[in-house]
Amino acid sequence: MSSKPFKRILLKLSGEALMGDQTFGIDTATVTRVADEIRIAKEAGFELCLVVGGGNIFRGLAAAEQGFDRASADYMGMLATVMNALAVQNSLERLGVDTRVQSAIPMSSVCEPYIRRRAERHMEKGRIVIFAAGTGNPFFTTDTAAALRAAEMQCDALFKGTSVDGVYNADPKKDKSATRYESLGYDKVLADNLKVMDASAVALCRENDIPIVVFNIREHGNLARVLAGEGVSTIVR
Ligand code: UDP
Repeated sequence: MSSKPFKRILLKLSGEALMGDQTFGIDTATVTRVADEIRIAKEAGFELCLVVGGGNIFRGLAAAEQGFDRASADYMGMLATVMNALAVQNSLERLGVDTRVQSAIPMSSVCEPYIRRRAERHMEKGRIVIFAAGTGNPFFTTDTAAALRAAEMQCDALFKGTSVDGVYNADPKKDKSATRYESLGYDKVLADNLKVMDASAVALCRENDIPIVVFNIREHGNLARVLAGEGVSTIVR
């Protein structure tokens, strides 16, 4: 997959990855399975931090389209990501993985505020830091938050866990002849509007030279396999 092995990665988990077969909310068994993926990768010696989305609970843009004030709706979306972060933390700690949640919106009775240097220290101590509340600003997404935190934490790559094993030239769930890209340039992703991450996240990764690895998080042990250069994925660089 890569000539240079990755040591420290940021894993972006969308809210949907925690939903399982439900149409809304958090499915405990699914969160436990995702947490186990993270545990396996951690035990294989990789340093991980996470950004969790909130789309399984609340999306600001969708609410704004129904008449909500966009900024208020986005704050609600960010609060949803904190709920997901606590769910992931709970599952990881049950599996014996040491974690900290840091929120971009300070919420001192629930979790730590986001402090970059403190997050760095947690990672040095082998903890998994879960970044919640996106960037802390409305009109952004957790994809952009993932690119931002990956840059701040000097991650070697941003891993995007999805329900397919990479980026295809058509929707593989609808078109049998769709083929997967092994690797892609940032510019092609942006020019062809490929659904990898939103454009500002891709641009931020391009500016900071952070590869984006798209892989299937639903397959057991796949995160560790892709990290070891063995699994199937698409790398954007
Ligand atoms: N959000 C925001 N600023 C951010 C990150 C997220 O306002 O920096 C809000 C936005 O309303 C978004 C919601 O939080 O719809 C949930 O995040 P996102 O849609 O990125 O979650 P995902 O699609 O990854 O589940």
